[in-house]
Amino acid sequence: MTEINYDDNNIFARILRHELNADVIFENEHVLVFQDKFPQARVHLLAIPKGRYRSFDDFSAHAGQEEIVSFFQAIGDSARHAGLTHGGYRLVSNCGKNAGQEVPHFHMHILGGEALGPIISQHH
Ligand code: AMP
Repeated sequence: MTEINYDDNNIFARILRHELNADVIFENEHVLVFQDKFPQARVHLLAIPKGRYRSFDDFSAHAGQEEIVSFFQAIGDSARHAGLTHGGYRLVSNCGKNAGQEVPHFHMHILGGEALGPIISQHH
């Protein structure tokens, strides 16, 4: 059952093992924050836990409190450091197939630097 197993060959696992390069802007024991390679806003960062979590569902169900606290603090710190606080920004995490999650390692998008428009594209 591929859905229930973490895929150690996903792109973000490879970034964590330094097999692929990333433009890292923050790192600590639990978290890595780096530039999205295909930015969809003037500022587009990705925050990932270092633990092997497939999605937000997996992370919220199984991560420890220290990992969860560290993750959210790193997001706030990174957004502040990137100068996003004044203008505002958006956090997005695509979880599973309805959301179109492409990389099966939990990540939070940090988007800002410009007005972002509606949260959901008009697809109906
Ligand atoms: P999602 O569709 O929510 O799974 O988002 C995956 C994100 O990963 C997309 O915004 C991609 O642009 C981004 N991405 C894919 N490959 C890389 C990479 N090698 N380095 C940084 N970001 C990447």
